[in-house]
Amino acid sequence: MASIQLTDIAFAYNGCPVLRHVSLGVASGERVALLGSNGAGKTTLLKLIGGVLQPVQGTIVLDGQRINRLPKRELSRKTAIVPQEFVVPFAFAVREVVELGRTPYVRILSGLRASDRLAVEKAMEQTDVVQFSSRVFNELSGGERQRVMIAMALAQEPELLLLDEPTQQLDITRQAEVMDLIIGLNRRWGLTVIAAIHDLNLAGRYFDRLILLHNGTVLADGPPERVLRTDFMEEAYDGPVEIFRSGDSKTPIVFPVSRFRDLPNEQ
Ligand code: ADP
Repeated sequence: MASIQLTDIAFAYNGCPVLRHVSLGVASGERVALLGSNGAGKTTLLKLIGGVLQPVQGTIVLDGQRINRLPKRELSRKTAIVPQEFVVPFAFAVREVVELGRTPYVRILSGLRASDRLAVEKAMEQTDVVQFSSRVFNELSGGERQRVMIAMALAQEPELLLLDEPTQQLDITRQAEVMDLIIGLNRRWGLTVIAAIHDLNLAGRYFDRLILLHNGTVLADGPPERVLRTDFMEEAYDGPVEIFRSGDSKTPIVFPVSRFRDLPNEQ
């Protein structure tokens, strides 16, 4: 399990500031959702935590070690990123895609060893993709592809799993399947999870801690009932919202307010 501490992080693309004064800690075994409007910096923050980008200011410490001092291979054995999309230019089979996750462990020109094959097998079992291991990755449905991408990340045997919008473009049942998979990895296998989630209501339902980014920094950080509030939502998303409470758990549900008065539930 891995803990991560960000202290006063700033980041800019070609001099254009995107993040500033970002300080946050995620404890070992936590499950955290990153929220924020389009362009708020969620992907950028995940890339900084994953060591793909370097901050212009501040420190990122993983299990007591600054990540910019960790060798890349060592970092890849601790942290895995599941990107929004994974482009495979050839007709790679699912198993071959998952095997790519072993890259940080494999020596150049030497093939997969028994321990690598075992890790690949376990990752495919954890994500329930064994049944289509021979199929072509590019021909899978969105939900199946997402599970294979998570399997590829798990083949790295990480302690910290970073996911970038894992439920984007999935139907509601596939969203729930992917969320259940992520929760299982967190609860059963103890993985620390940080996921950028576009859908506020899915985030509120499946995550016990939400971090809301706005104007390049953290606007709110806490359980759903403390973050999914009208004031924070309207500021972060720059528009009026209504908050409802769902079921026994009273999870807040956020709706944008329509300009039209004649919507079905308002007649
Ligand atoms: P989010 O994931 O919250 O939608 P991003 O981290 O993708 O936000 O983007 C944050 C800001 O950084 C946006 O304004 C985006 O246009 C900009 N940005 C992202 N990637 C790049 C890049 N490679 N080069 C320049 N600007 C970028």
